[in-house]
Amino acid sequence: MSNTNEFDVIIVGGGHAGTEAALAAARQSVRTLLLTDNIETVGQMSCNPAIGGIGKGHLVKEIDALGGIMARAADRAGIQFRTLNARKGPAVRATRAQADRMLYKYAVREAVEHQPNLALFQQSVDDLIVTDGRVAGVVTRMGLRFAARAVVLTVGTFLGGRIHVGTSQFGGGRAGDAPSNALAERLRDLPFDVGRLKTGTPPRIDGRSVDFSRLAEQPGDEPAPVFSYLGSRSEHPRQVPCHIAHTNPATHDLIRERLHESAIYSGEIDSVGPRYCPSIEDKIVRFADKASHQIFVEPEGLNTTELYPNGISTSLGFDTQLALVRSIDGFENAHITRPGYAIEYDYFDPRGLQASLETRHLPGLYFAGQINGTTGYEEAAAQGLLAGVNAALAVRGREPWWPRRDQAYLGVLVDDLITRGTLEPYRMFTSRAEHRLLLREDNADLRLTPTGRDLGLVDDHRWQAFETKREAVAREQRRLADLVVRPDDVTDDALTERLGGRLKEACKAVELLRRPNLGYADLRGLPAVAEQAVDPVVAEQVEIQAKYAGYIERQNAEIDRNRRHEDTRLPDGLDYAAVAGLSSEIREKLARQRPATLGQAARIPGVTPAAVSLLLVHLRKGE
Ligand code: FAD
Repeated sequence: MSNTNEFDVIIVGGGHAGTEAALAAARQSVRTLLLTDNIETVGQMSCNPAIGGIGKGHLVKEIDALGGIMARAADRAGIQFRTLNARKGPAVRATRAQADRMLYKYAVREAVEHQPNLALFQQSVDDLIVTDGRVAGVVTRMGLRFAARAVVLTVGTFLGGRIHVGTSQFGGGRAGDAPSNALAERLRDLPFDVGRLKTGTPPRIDGRSVDFSRLAEQPGDEPAPVFSYLGSRSEHPRQVPCHIAHTNPATHDLIRERLHESAIYSGEIDSVGPRYCPSIEDKIVRFADKASHQIFVEPEGLNTTELYPNGISTSLGFDTQLALVRSIDGFENAHITRPGYAIEYDYFDPRGLQASLETRHLPGLYFAGQINGTTGYEEAAAQGLLAGVNAALAVRGREPWWPRRDQAYLGVLVDDLITRGTLEPYRMFTSRAEHRLLLREDNADLRLTPTGRDLGLVDDHRWQAFETKREAVAREQRRLADLVVRPDDVTDDALTERLGGRLKEACKAVELLRRPNLGYADLRGLPAVAEQAVDPVVAEQVEIQAKYAGYIERQNAEIDRNRRHEDTRLPDGLDYAAVAGLSSEIREKLARQRPATLGQAARIPGVTPAAVSLLLVHLRKGE
């Protein structure tokens, strides 16, 4: 792509939301520009170098199923992989990768640089061009003007970013980067609902100054899990262990004594931080009776000695940070390479967005990532992908797309944000989804790749791999459904033991698979099953679908029942004042949020089932 200043879609910000948005738009063959204030930080992990975890891993798989980059990059950068909840049911099993920060960044940058229809340009965006009530482009700090029909803002923690370390404060988008103040002011002038949130990060430590013999080693899983549906173990770099350390009563006494230094407790910061990633000072105050907290000591990469001590995020003064770290067993001589800090930044109430992530107030402008009040790379990337898809769809004159809550965690995320808003940094958990058994990591491709293909996000290579897997699953399901197992067929001792003795009567192989204590691996004790080579991923899918068939059917039936109302569209200009019987409070809420469907209306806090019935009656009257 040669330099021009006219594009179809402009993405502002090269973080996790921005890179997925840019790739998703460009994959739909619209001319896309990724404008970011520093090309060196494209794909940078601002905080801990890890991808995935419970709920988050599910999002990563969904991004991958829709052709995104996050899982591919994690496979190429992951230096320790684990399956969390491995002994629990498949719905809550989740992949987590400790990443080499640099390798991750390189993988994302390479994807961006090799993507057709995508140009990369280094400039900070200071202003938006607004023409006839629509966004029409952006203006950079140098005064360069770029025109586009859609603009996606993914500027993370940079808007009015203010960093706190003890009593010192300074402007910053994250450590080492300037804040985005001009853009923040411009956005504050527009009719968006702005708020402040905060987050924090721990000090980083030089591994050469740590006595690892005093820490517990935590190796990765063997064999290492793979993140992407197209990934393979052979892509993983060298694997290394993490370690576990603990705070102790001396650490806690010190923090209590110096609490007045912390920006949060001194009253310098009154914005809300991530509930599930609290600072160490928060933990000491909130869980005062606990004598110790766990710290995961995570390597930052293969070619660096820096460590990320996960669990001691702090905004205490530097001297206190040093004393705090050195009070921990194994860290007596620790050298801090970067101080921990807290950062406050602007975010916008996501109830001002449509499900496509287009802002309601300024057509053509989309928001994705931390700017919408979320926290985490995965939440940001998932939104980025969705905003990029929809910006390009709009340019192509097509209807917007978003998944439903029963189709994807991405659907849960967007629906939660736009209907409920958030007063604290929002992170994903499996408990946020009503239909957990359907939204598993193992079937994100089966749920979403066909849609990704329709949207132009899934290339031929991914599609072929997907179809091969889907057909192999169907073939094996048919084979096990047809295969009759007679008592005499069971000659394998291990299988006989698992069956609790001799099989009493003939049955289909699939029926054996439904028994709670039998897995696909056990069935391979039957010569008729073992004779066919089956890919372990296919075997896993066949096993899960057979075992949970009853539950899945019940969930699907429930979804069908709810869907009748869920998808009922509410007209854009619906006059809520004309809906008989609604309380003025509910009327106001609906008029302010303008839900697109009856389902969305029902999830707005304070909108009662009775109000939903009144809406339904009103819609029927108008038919
Ligand atoms: P970012 O990754 O921040 O990317 C924003 C991008 O926009 C950057 O490339 C930036 O250079 C660019 N940019 C900004 N302004 C402009 C402009 N005007 N013009 C052009 N480009 C611009 N997440 C957790 O899950 N748990 C945590 O505990 C946690 N702690 C954190 C602590 C700190 C100190 C920070 C900074 C972040 C933390 N995060 C944490 C959050 C995590 O980093 C973000 O959720 C994630 O990076 C958000 O992705 P994003 O794409 O929205 O924004």
